[in-house]
Amino acid sequence: MLSAMPDPKKPQFRPETLAIVSGYNPEDASRSAKPPVYMTATFTYPSAQVAKDVHRAYFDGDGPEAGGSGHIYSRLGHPGLDILEERLAAIDGADAALAYCSGMAAHTAVALAYLKPGEGVVHGRPFYSGVDGLFNEIMPQFGSHSAYWTDGCDEANMWAACEAAMARGPVALLAAESPGNPTAALVDLDLLVKIAGRVEAAQGRRPIVMVDNTLLGPFHQRPFEHGVDLCVTSLTKYCAGHSDLLAGAITGRKDLIDPLKLQRLVWGSHLDPYTAWLVLRSLETVHLRTERAMENALDVATWLRAHPKVAGVTYLGFTPEGTPARAVFERQCKGAGSTFSFHLHGGEAEAFRMLDSLKLLKMAVNLGGSNTLICHSASTTHYAVAREMRLASGITDGTIRLSVGLEHVDDIIADLAQALEAV
Ligand SMILES: *Cc1c(COP(=O)(O)O)cnc(C)c1O
Repeated sequence: MLSAMPDPKKPQFRPETLAIVSGYNPEDASRSAKPPVYMTATFTYPSAQVAKDVHRAYFDGDGPEAGGSGHIYSRLGHPGLDILEERLAAIDGADAALAYCSGMAAHTAVALAYLKPGEGVVHGRPFYSGVDGLFNEIMPQFGSHSAYWTDGCDEANMWAACEAAMARGPVALLAAESPGNPTAALVDLDLLVKIAGRVEAAQGRRPIVMVDNTLLGPFHQRPFEHGVDLCVTSLTKYCAGHSDLLAGAITGRKDLIDPLKLQRLVWGSHLDPYTAWLVLRSLETVHLRTERAMENALDVATWLRAHPKVAGVTYLGFTPEGTPARAVFERQCKGAGSTFSFHLHGGEAEAFRMLDSLKLLKMAVNLGGSNTLICHSASTTHYAVAREMRLASGITDGTIRLSVGLEHVDDIIADLAQALEAV
């Protein structure tokens, strides 16, 4: 089996290669070239002693079965999860990984494990709405507190949020999503890790640094190269990439991942065998798919920017030269993503006329899939966000979000062109 950790006896493979070969050894499954799907709820033991040894290995981490592949019951782990998790860790360059039944299940696992009553989370805004609600509405019911920064490239702004939180109790978690969606706001991950050091100096305890890497995905932003502790990815988006399943991952240091694995068996939020197999298959091509989607997105964004009915385009690649955000973009991002927004002259009526005239592009709120998806932000993804807050983050009544997919770019542009005539 291959691992991303340096091993002098083995050649070092790049993430593109690891995405195809890591985690699976044909010797383990009748030499089948591809991993089978183990559709089973439970696993049998050849003897009572082996059953005991397997349980001991799982719960105590030692004994004759430790490091082996003994399984107990699929909620605790199954062969498809082992393969997928080894591959997810290898691609990210992390020690270990866990796969969950959704991105939100992964975020919830981190919050429940590492944000205790009396402790605080400091996070960036905007953050994916489900995570924002987790930090600010759900977790406070268990006694935690939260504070947020709005400029993830500005140390003073981020530090002020940390000070506000520390005044209420120790900060246990620093959490960032970068780039933000659909605002393209960036969080400087080097700065985030530096802030963790400042918090540690101030309160005598280092907070865990967690980054949501869903939007650029594992090939175009490498959080562990910046020193973060945990990375959460909604695999539903680019990694699975076909808008046909939900899954999530946590990657990171072994000492942080191991307790989460034992908790996952209680929450019951593991990824099932069939979906794990589908994600494993998707990971082999995620770098190709995201590269093509990003190429298409650049062309579409450039075309929209020049259109007379479009007031503006919020696209990471258009981050103005000479700004701190541009410097972060160039240092940290290996691509500009393929999910962005554009703003029509006018409001909801104009946006709805355009959307209802589309023939090829599908109206839906997912992103990162093979088909281009489009939605009116204010009435869908940001339906529950107060109007003033929405406008403050640049989402007007004429804002439309686009997740550019893998269709021929000329067909995408032609559909947008004919629909814009209806505005
Ligand atoms: C979609 C998304 C999530 C939640 O993932 P699910 O798989 O839908 O539960 C979390 N973070 C970001 C940035 C997302 O886009």
